[in-house]
Amino acid sequence: MKKALIIGGGFAGCAAAHQLELLDGWDVTVIEKAPFLGAGVRTNWFGGHPYTFGPRHFLTPYNEVFEYLNKIIPMRKCAEHEFLTYVEKDNDFYAYPINLNDVKKMPDYKDIKSQMDEKKKQEFVGAKNAKNLEEYWIGSVGKILFDKFIDNYNKKMWLVDSCKDIDTFNWSPKGVALKDGPRAAWDSAISAYPIAPNGYNDYFDFATKNAKVILSKTLDDLDIDKKKVTIDNEKYIFDIIISTVSPDLLFKECYGKLNFLGREFHKLVFPTENVFPENVFFLYYANDEKFTRMVEFKKFTKHKSKTSLVGLEIPSLGGGKHYPLPFKKDQKLAQKYLNDLPDGYFSIGRAGTYLYGVDIDDCIRQTMIMSDMIKSGSQDSPVPGEEYRFPELKK
Ligand SMILES: Cc1cc2nc3c(=O)[nH]c(=O)nc-3n(C[C@H](O)[C@H](O)[C@H](O)COP(=O)(O)OP(=O)(O)OC[C@H]3O[C@@H](n4cnc5c(N)ncnc54)[C@H](O)[C@@H]3O)c2cc1C
Repeated sequence: MKKALIIGGGFAGCAAAHQLELLDGWDVTVIEKAPFLGAGVRTNWFGGHPYTFGPRHFLTPYNEVFEYLNKIIPMRKCAEHEFLTYVEKDNDFYAYPINLNDVKKMPDYKDIKSQMDEKKKQEFVGAKNAKNLEEYWIGSVGKILFDKFIDNYNKKMWLVDSCKDIDTFNWSPKGVALKDGPRAAWDSAISAYPIAPNGYNDYFDFATKNAKVILSKTLDDLDIDKKKVTIDNEKYIFDIIISTVSPDLLFKECYGKLNFLGREFHKLVFPTENVFPENVFFLYYANDEKFTRMVEFKKFTKHKSKTSLVGLEIPSLGGGKHYPLPFKKDQKLAQKYLNDLPDGYFSIGRAGTYLYGVDIDDCIRQTMIMSDMIKSGSQDSPVPGEEYRFPELKK
């Protein structure tokens, strides 16, 4: 049997273990730093309410990824759902992504329209010529809408002084600019959540059921070229290594440390059965509040209670490697590490690819692509996920 080591037992690590099980012929070890699998996607309970660390809503354009997960842990599709943004200037909540129906109701619609008409005349719509987030949004929708929805939100989200420092995100659904007509949150994607009260938890056990899982441990040493690792003074050699952790860790940060942003997560119980309007799952705050987002967990979990649990997120410099930075300097450094990975390494997941755009569905999809690569005998690095990277950094 061939031997595979998976570093990290979050969604990507667990999904990788399952894909190798499906391939047959692999002896799989998962090493996980925490005392549990699933990382922030794991369901915990507070006052009887199930919750995860921030929302972990399953949203995907890939039907095969939905079908895969749905067979293992039955999922409930969220037919109607909205995300709203609070815009202090108008003291109003509007749907996000921004849509024309809402814009037409804004008190300064005339000015917004003349800015949008100007953009159209210049044929500078969307991401065409944009080099950063500010140019992308002003180029797409004009300065007034950029100020209302994007500027403050992204400055606090990424802890920067200017949106010129940030990638355009035009590759991601998060970069969708103005849409026509009323719309659900992301109407071109499947939106779902596990039916089971313990959310995704059973998936982590199912996906790793045939693997050797070592919890509360990290590697003592890694000889990257020989794929030789030391765990508790024992040495092991692997045929492939699937890493879901920040790639600088594999190289002992030889080119420098890759930075991440973390999240402070707060749980708030409200004395009412429901807090947000009926179909509203997330509220975004685009002003000078310290927090970026709130989620009412009941909307996904359908938990029954006379109270309701809301989660609130505040971006922070410490508190975990949650968000790879979408800045050119950091992306280039990540690419340098990924380019140096020898054959037989797959660096996947959000930290492994160092891409903020990698969500739960991408983690699963990357392991499916990885499985195809292994089947076809290709063990090249870099790995699936690179399609999201800055175009000029692509090989
Ligand atoms: C606040 C927040 C909200 C989100 N909301 C959504 C959402 O609504 N929908 C969605 O699709 N996606 C969402 N995402 C993204 C999605 O959850 C992640 O992309 C996905 O869970 C990442 O899985 P992963 O396995 O790549 O990484 P992680 O979940 O970070 O797992 C990595 C694992 O590696 C372990 N580890 C770290 N270092 C070591 C080491 N040296 N040795 C061994 N183990 C190590 C960690 O303990 C962790 O368990 C959200 C992310 C965040 C942070």
